[in-house]
Amino acid sequence: MYQSSCLAVRFIFIGLFSVLTLSGQKKTKVEDDTHLRTKPKLVVGIVVDQMRYDYLTRFYDHYGEGGFKRMLADGFNCKNNHFNYAPTSTGPGHASVYTGTTPSTHGVIGNNWYDKENDETVYCAGDDNYASVGTTDDAGLMSPHRMAVTTVGDELRLHTQMRGKTIAIALKDRGAVLPGGHTANAAYWFHGKDEGNWISSTYYMDQLPSWVNDFNSSGVAQSYKKAWTTLKDIDTYTESGPDNNKYEGLAKGETTPTFPHNPTSLLDKDKDFDILKGTPYGNSITTDFAIEAVEKEGLGTDADTDFLAISYSSTDYVGHNYGVNSKEVQDTYLRLDLDLERLFTTLDQKVGEGEYTVFLTADHAAGEVPAYLKDMKIPAGYIDYDDTKTKFSEFLKYTYGTEDIVKNFSNLQIFLDHKIIKNLELDVQKVQEEIAKEYLGYDYIDRVYTGHQMWQNEYTSGIPYILQNGYNQKRSGDVLLVLKPGFIRYSKTGSTHGSPQIYDTHSPLLFFGKGIKKGSTAERTEISDIAPTISVLLGISFPSGSTGKPIGEVMQ
Ligand code: ZN
Ligand code: ZN
Ligand code: ZN
Repeated sequence: MYQSSCLAVRFIFIGLFSVLTLSGQKKTKVEDDTHLRTKPKLVVGIVVDQMRYDYLTRFYDHYGEGGFKRMLADGFNCKNNHFNYAPTSTGPGHASVYTGTTPSTHGVIGNNWYDKENDETVYCAGDDNYASVGTTDDAGLMSPHRMAVTTVGDELRLHTQMRGKTIAIALKDRGAVLPGGHTANAAYWFHGKDEGNWISSTYYMDQLPSWVNDFNSSGVAQSYKKAWTTLKDIDTYTESGPDNNKYEGLAKGETTPTFPHNPTSLLDKDKDFDILKGTPYGNSITTDFAIEAVEKEGLGTDADTDFLAISYSSTDYVGHNYGVNSKEVQDTYLRLDLDLERLFTTLDQKVGEGEYTVFLTADHAAGEVPAYLKDMKIPAGYIDYDDTKTKFSEFLKYTYGTEDIVKNFSNLQIFLDHKIIKNLELDVQKVQEEIAKEYLGYDYIDRVYTGHQMWQNEYTSGIPYILQNGYNQKRSGDVLLVLKPGFIRYSKTGSTHGSPQIYDTHSPLLFFGKGIKKGSTAERTEISDIAPTISVLLGISFPSGSTGKPIGEVMQ
């Protein structure tokens, strides 16, 4: 009785409210729609290739006010952000950031992988159905066709009836092609060799716009062919190891891994523009070109939100060569900080302060040089598959009478020949298990999983969760191997990445600008959360394969 009378009272109130709302409706209609969506004039996605989270904290005291520190002070810092799949490499990284999902769904399972259907190794961004634009070299035969779902940029294009522009820029082709999505107006990447030009593919255009030709012929690339000295006094770089240490690799023609790199005596003025990629100047020319794109394409100047995807690739080349603890990496980040400041200042002027939204993350992180860890008494080391090659062949011959049962080994996955297994009247699941057990006996292996396990279980945490997110039913292998933490298959100098271990997954995630709150969180966020977060912010549909969750805390 009490309840129903209460309901009756509520109905009366609702009735009264409706009348009041109706009379005040005109006023509500003219209010803006910020409760529905934030409409920045431009969204800028920045991916820093191989950036570890601790580069924000370790080098913090050296950064200026206008780059990383501006994002940290005025934006939102997700301190516990991770890649949630393996392999942690560049192709899968860029695809995951922009599609809001993992290789299990978007299909980019590596930089290169073995294509089971066609029995060939394929490149994540390669597509010989298209031709190069801006070079006669075949460096432009690219498209995003191996990425099975849409990106946040694609959804923005659909939402704006293709009026919102998307432009993607990176030194590396895959760092531009995958972020651009399927509908980008343009993706540009840097072709070194003896050309030093920004190029594209006929997937996007028949010829380069005149502003790109002008940029290419302006001599900017040439101007960066100069010695790489440290930005500040090297003695103030107390956050990294000695300049000359045994964990660093050498640049071309050098005899010591020390500054200045690329002195004029080693530079060939007319050739080898690839040398820029391995110095911070590669990031600077990326910034120059991105700024030119903002100005000449008029990004962020009309009612429809545009999208600019920039990927900084030099950080990866420098990390691979000198290692994550090198003076070279420190200097590269100090210089990148200035490039970011230059980019933000331009955006303030051309688009308007507070009128654009930026996110910054990585495509994977990287581990310390194992030789250095070993010297510091931390478990680490190098593996050589050749050590177990003979043992594994003997196992195959003894167990199955043939080695041909294994078709391919790539990205730490073993691909079996299912036809041979069928002819031998063997059970695939059993063969997977037997091979997994054999590998588990090898010293450098930490754990193994089978394709069958990936099909049968739903893992929700830890390494198996990460492997499953990287496991694509149509594309991945039969046996998945995980190396011991700290162990890599690599040269004895420099750093690499690719594993499901936490040092390869922990990466920065910063948001800044229109619609973004100031603050930080230590709650776990994942790389696939970025695209859904931007989708919610813009009030647009999620990318078609989205599995990440919007990070509500970052939005105003
Ligand atoms: Zn990368
Ligand atoms: Zn050095
Ligand atoms: Zn790399």
